[in-house]
Amino acid sequence: MSSRKKLIAGNWKMNKTSSDAVALVQEIVAAIGKQTDVDVVVCPPFTSLESVGKALDGSVVKLGAQNVHPEPSGAYTGETSVGMLRALFSSYVIIGHSERRTYFQESDGFINQKVLAALKGQLKPILCVGETLGQRESGQTLRVVQTQLEGGLEGVSKDQLTSVVVAYEPVWAIGTGKVATTEQAQEVHAFIRSLLAKTFGDAMAEKVRILYGGSMKPANAPELLGQKDIDGGLIGGASLESRSFVDLVKAAASSR
Ligand code: PEP
Repeated sequence: MSSRKKLIAGNWKMNKTSSDAVALVQEIVAAIGKQTDVDVVVCPPFTSLESVGKALDGSVVKLGAQNVHPEPSGAYTGETSVGMLRALFSSYVIIGHSERRTYFQESDGFINQKVLAALKGQLKPILCVGETLGQRESGQTLRVVQTQLEGGLEGVSKDQLTSVVVAYEPVWAIGTGKVATTEQAQEVHAFIRSLLAKTFGDAMAEKVRILYGGSMKPANAPELLGQKDIDGGLIGGASLESRSFVDLVKAAASSR
């Protein structure tokens, strides 16, 4: 059994108005209660961080953001800094999601700046990596994941690594209903841990949580979460409805 506590994080993407977001999180908090077997994070859009943060007050559910800018302040229209997220009591931030890499041309270098800024400001980065279908089919999965992981973590110290969460999200499985097989997912998760071990040492690599993301649902979660190197899930679609999100938390709790 792994000593790593499972983590279930909901990525709400560009969904929910502030009042819809509060209603959803109230349902989640009521259903989850005070359980501490699994770490639970919700990542609403920026516009709902404050209201959701207030609704989470006193609960075990933590707040995360979906993006951040590396600079602390300045002329970056439309952007949000680490300090601004911390002021709203965010604990986590998703960085390098494939939608940001694809639609906003985010490079590994820029993603790395965000990771370093988040860590400096005591915000835990959830660094997303993953291959496209074309890359998988042409045998490039591990090379792509290695480039994204090493690029994203450049300059991260051993001490800082304990605050990093990695999410393996095969791009072809995100929002498509096509989930990676347990073997495909476990292979990449073990590979990520081996890369972390090479850079940071075995003991440090054993502490890092590596989440799976890509059409994870209550029906397929138990098998995925039962794999040795799968330490939780980054959940898109199934995090937008309290029943499925809470069922995923329960699946993580029973897979410990
Ligand atoms: C995601 O966007 O991070 C994700 C995993 O989405 P979905 O669960 O909908 O595939």
